[in-house]
Amino acid sequence: MKIQKTLLALVIGSALAVGAAFAADAKKDAAPAKVAACCAKAAKDDKACGHPCCVAAAKESKNCEKCGGAGAVETKKEAKK
Ligand SMILES: [Zn+2]
Ligand SMILES: [Zn+2]
Repeated sequence: MKIQKTLLALVIGSALAVGAAFAADAKKDAAPAKVAACCAKAAKDDKACGHPCCVAAAKESKNCEKCGGAGAVETKKEAKK
């Protein structure tokens, strides 16, 4: 009986771990877009951020996660033009 309980605990434990991993993934996808501070500063001056990491992220239409950004780049500016 003791072994069965241990197995059950292991199964439940791993299921919870998988669930937590999925929840983390969902959170990532649902995270609101956030422009990195350096990029926001550059955008204020109508410039593109010069950080190589930010340039690389911008190419993928993403905010630079290295500099504190998150999510996809908002394309409002391009729509205005
Ligand atoms: Zn930047
Ligand atoms: Zn960056």
